[in-house]
Amino acid sequence: MTDPILSVDGVEKRFGGITALDGASFDVEPGITGLIGPNGAGKSTMFNVITGFLSPDAGTVEFRGNDITGLRPSAVAERGLVRTFQIPHELPEMTVRENLALAPRDQRGEGLFTTWTRGDGYARDERNAQRRAVEMAERFDIDHVLDTPAGELSGGQRKLLELARALLTDPDLVLLDEPLAGVNPTLENRILDHLQDLESEGYSFLFIEHDIDVIMEHCQEVIVMHQGRVLTAGDPEDVRSDDRVIDAYLGG
Ligand code: ADP
Ligand code: MG
Repeated sequence: MTDPILSVDGVEKRFGGITALDGASFDVEPGITGLIGPNGAGKSTMFNVITGFLSPDAGTVEFRGNDITGLRPSAVAERGLVRTFQIPHELPEMTVRENLALAPRDQRGEGLFTTWTRGDGYARDERNAQRRAVEMAERFDIDHVLDTPAGELSGGQRKLLELARALLTDPDLVLLDEPLAGVNPTLENRILDHLQDLESEGYSFLFIEHDIDVIMEHCQEVIVMHQGRVLTAGDPEDVRSDDRVIDAYLGG
């Protein structure tokens, strides 16, 4: 066992009377890890807590051995941990090229204003950002729509843009919230191939997915959440045959 890249310990989160996270704990090792669980289990809330979009009521989040609990999303991103959203968050009026070039600054919490008023390094940074935007678009096969407003992309292209935007921040770990939801089988396979390639380049992923067969094939570990807690975690083969997991999914 290697050192975990991410450790979540005893995380609680309530919304009024609803307990979304009820003392959830797990470790994520480098590589590709799946996160499954029925609707309402607390998966997206967990992503929000890990990446600083929500503060937990209790518990801690450690990334690469450092406590990041309660840090702002931009500070978490700077440390190399970013997420994508179940509903993609691109800027619909801007082109794909602009969305990609802005991604690193966006994650750092710099608005357009800071971008425009930056000093000497700006022109060089800007050329760099433009070059990387094009490279990333080529990698994900969205270079033919570089000058199309993001709002006009197909659902699948938006998913690829969202992934490209996350990677442009130079992350170590990317949390993907249902990256395959609503995606056709061809694109699903392409996205999974990308994740596999990116993993061999040293990126790690924690991704929320409902299809246990996809998890079995692509994840070294799987974490199962249920009612705000971790039901079990480990080897996908063992998890799939776990009676508690079968019950949770069948509503038992
Ligand atoms: P999952 O992603 O596993 O489907 P969520 O984390 O979205 O689950 O939701 C967990 C629980 O928390 C659900 O009962 C959901 O209705 C509730 N919840 C999530 N976000 C909010 C919010 N912002 N306000 C109130 N309740 C919320
Ligand atoms: Mg969700």
